Amino acid sequence: MPYLFTTIGPKQAAELGMILPHEHVFVDLRTWDQPGYAEGQAEDVIALVAPEIRKARNAGITALVECTPVGVGRRVDILKAVSKATGFPLVVPTGVYREPWIPPWIHEASEAQLREWMQSELEGQVEETGVRAGFIKLSAGDDGITPTEAKVLRAAAQAAKPTNSVIGSHTIRGRVVRDQLDIIEKSGYSPSRFIWIHTQAEPDFALHLEMARRGAWLEYDSIGNPEEDSMFIDWIRKLLDAGFEKQLMLSHDRGWYDPAQPGGGKPQPYTYLAETFLPRLRATGVTEETIKRLVCENPFRAFARN
Ligand SMILES: [Zn+2]
Repeated sequence: MPYLFTTIGPKQAAELGMILPHEHVFVDLRTWDQPGYAEGQAEDVIALVAPEIRKARNAGITALVECTPVGVGRRVDILKAVSKATGFPLVVPTGVYREPWIPPWIHEASEAQLREWMQSELEGQVEETGVRAGFIKLSAGDDGITPTEAKVLRAAAQAAKPTNSVIGSHTIRGRVVRDQLDIIEKSGYSPSRFIWIHTQAEPDFALHLEMARRGAWLEYDSIGNPEEDSMFIDWIRKLLDAGFEKQLMLSHDRGWYDPAQPGGGKPQPYTYLAETFLPRLRATGVTEETIKRLVCENPFRAFARN
């Protein structure tokens, strides 16, 4: 039976409802060599973000995927503390972001060493936290995949295979996703276990369709600006009409405690989708069954694994 592996243990589909597939609790977008990088106290993060998690739960959200990999301030120890304080499950990744955020040890590691590292976090735990990684998060350059990013992706495909883990990639250009899917196929893994994170950043909708036809998950994950609602609704309806109801996910890419800001900055709420966007989508005639598919069933199916 497939489970969603979370900071507070594995969860079955029946225990969950609406899941946000792309949000953040703690992120540091400075590179690893900057003073103070990824530093923070769990109690400060809890004070800032726990109220937003409580509001999300009140809006019907039952779990949130925390998409911060190595390179942009992954702190699974802090995420676990936030989960304990709120009783709310978070899914955390193994994997590493793109250049120039990739730290030296990843550049130096062999493909086999990277596979072993990711697989150990998917099958065991992340660092000494006792938390199992739920999936692999990585990224690729806007102008093309660098040799190190390709090495990470090949290692990810090998690490994901034994556990059927999903690989999510922050990729801004559709033509770069095309190359990533080629690498995944050559590595003997399936595009159906790949999430194109930030699909909306690619303005050419034909490329959204192309990747969906190849079997990849699409993710519109910057929902939250009312001025963009009609664009998202238009794209969603076109994907539904084209039969891709089972390959689409929706999220905000919001939060979070940022150690580069005084006091962690000001967090953005996780509630726009549930409280504002979905009612607008419903009003265009999208059925309750389809909405449930998009925000409950799809994220579970994408991230759940053995
Ligand atoms: Zn993000």
